[in-house]
Amino acid sequence: MDIRCGDEILYAIGKKLLEILGENSLVSRYSNDYFGVIFNCEKNLYNILHEVVKNIEKLRVNDVIYDLSVNIGIYKLNKDDDNISVAIDKAIMAHSASKGDVTDKYHIYDKEIENKLVKEDNIEKNMENALLNGEFKVYYQPKIYAKDEKLYGAEALVRWFHDGKMISPGEFIPLFEKNRFILKLDLYIFEQVCKDMKKWKIEFGFEPIVSVNISRQHFIDKDFLEKYLLIISKYGVNPNNIDLEITESAAIDEGIDIINIMERSKKIGFLISIDDFGTGYSSLSMLQDMPIDILKIDKSFVDKINANNSLVDYIINISKGLKLVTIAEGVETEEQKEYLKSKGCDIIQGYYYSKPLSQKEFEEYMKNKN
Ligand code: C2E
Ligand code: CA
Ligand code: CA
Repeated sequence: MDIRCGDEILYAIGKKLLEILGENSLVSRYSNDYFGVIFNCEKNLYNILHEVVKNIEKLRVNDVIYDLSVNIGIYKLNKDDDNISVAIDKAIMAHSASKGDVTDKYHIYDKEIENKLVKEDNIEKNMENALLNGEFKVYYQPKIYAKDEKLYGAEALVRWFHDGKMISPGEFIPLFEKNRFILKLDLYIFEQVCKDMKKWKIEFGFEPIVSVNISRQHFIDKDFLEKYLLIISKYGVNPNNIDLEITESAAIDEGIDIINIMERSKKIGFLISIDDFGTGYSSLSMLQDMPIDILKIDKSFVDKINANNSLVDYIINISKGLKLVTIAEGVETEEQKEYLKSKGCDIIQGYYYSKPLSQKEFEEYMKNKN
């Protein structure tokens, strides 16, 4: 798109906004492709927003229709608001709550947004120090063979201990994926895992198979596998005992040459799991082309056992057809475990056997299990 064309689109957006919001509104271009608008909302706000999104996402300029993407942040001005900069900041905060979410086109500023952003801000202020101070710890959730209940291995899951409280990954992983701090954190966790595996080999004479979660952000860095390789060499860990968990949605991301990454991982000797299987939309032929070892059935399907077994049955059949190892995650009851076992699922992970355990607790678990 040339500059003149870009200018014409910006001009057309401004004109369209004025047309929808009325001549008495104030429409300005705030920066780049950001518009700042003040208007008197006399009609239903949602109808107006709908109208704006509909018209701008299919914008007609000189008989050409452009497909644009719109995100809107709204702050409702009160009588006591006397500082326009503060009001703009609040609209921007609401906007950042909507950005990146394709289905959510607009957000209205409220206390919830403010709390979330303040929390995120706090996390971002503390994360680097937390890494230096060893506040991130690896927890291990055992994985158990369905056939004889022996220990197969564990999944490494991060926990953050801050100010005497434990913060669970759900609160910081999505943010770390956005700000890419996950790249540092995953490498740190991987190093801790390798350190523990070296210790276990010396103390117990064996290394369990440990899986680590690999964020899709790593795949953008073409050297990421070399960094992992360096760490396993440093601790003398056998890569055959390390399993890289890649979520199904990352594996089918069109912008990533995942097959190449997987093939290079296999060459090193890593195992590869497809995590959260069933929540993405991979086709059978895609799966067939990927050099993977393990399918992890997502918890949402395990939850439906007894209410609707058809999807679990289907996934286990796919996995068997492709000669993969099947792991079910989020198994909480004996009933679920028995059903999965009867269908030929190989390995069970979930609260039924154990919650994720600290390094010390997992060592105790290994001693008692074997
Ligand atoms: P995930 O990879 O799907 O991990 C499984 C999650 O399910 C874990 O949550 C685990 O504690 C939980 N879980 C396991 N069994 C049960 C069960 O029987 N019932 C219930 N209700 N939950 C169960 P957790 O530890 O909170 O981790 C959440 C997510 O955060 C993980 O989902 C993973 O996507 C991400 N994550 C955790 N650690 C790391 C890490 O070191 N690196 C990266 N990139 N992501 C991580
Ligand atoms: Ca996982
Ligand atoms: Ca999972």
